[in-house]
Amino acid sequence: MRRKLVAGNWKMHGSLAENEALLAGVLAGIASAKTDVAVCVPYPFLAQVQAKLSGSPIAWGAQNLSQHGKGAFTGEVSAAMLRDFGCKYVIVGHSERRSLYGETDEIVAAKFEAAQAAGLIPILCVGETLDEREGGVTEKVVARQLDAVIGRSGVGALADAVVAYEPVWAIGTGKTATPQQAQEVHAFIRGKIAALDPAVAQGLIIQYGGSMKANNAAELLAQPDIDGGLIGGASLVADEFLAICRAA
Ligand code: PEP
Repeated sequence: MRRKLVAGNWKMHGSLAENEALLAGVLAGIASAKTDVAVCVPYPFLAQVQAKLSGSPIAWGAQNLSQHGKGAFTGEVSAAMLRDFGCKYVIVGHSERRSLYGETDEIVAAKFEAAQAAGLIPILCVGETLDEREGGVTEKVVARQLDAVIGRSGVGALADAVVAYEPVWAIGTGKTATPQQAQEVHAFIRGKIAALDPAVAQGLIIQYGGSMKANNAAELLAQPDIDGGLIGGASLVADEFLAICRAA
């Protein structure tokens, strides 16, 4: 039986004061959630979440990392630095990184490897654009994104990772994949991994992400291959985020 994981992706939002209130709100209600919970926050707030969440049931992480260990990479942050701040998770290959910052499948695979080498659990985001869905190539795109990581790190690496299926057309748009649409792709992902390693596939947490909210979470999370959510906008509102955690 897989435990569900609900992870917030704060994106580039928050301030010390706003985070204080948000974290207090989430901490106040988290005891009633029976799922694993994490928040992935902007780098400058890692010290704050480490101080606030240490000893709580909520884990934390970052939204990106460098594929390099150290060196002359101005503005970059390494996996070891994230570990220093107690991160458990790091998002890799979010569609905003792929589309706005030119992260290729190869770069994403290198980041995935760097994260695991430092003991972080990568949350690997995969998903198709609207054009790709309408062109009937959703599975091809998702397979290509997974293959880049499997080719570099091996299928066994997925035993210590999370996959987030995030249809790009559903992210931040208010358009959610229907539970059936999401389940179809989740089942495809699990089936693809199962063909390589059934045990890894069986244990793999596959989150859904894309406008998951309190009012649609339960139906999505009831699907057999949906093991949690990666939550953008709704993770910035304590009651909304808690409602999703309770639905999981
Ligand atoms: C995300 O950024 O990973 C995401 C799923 O965003 P939203 O929930 O706002 O669609």
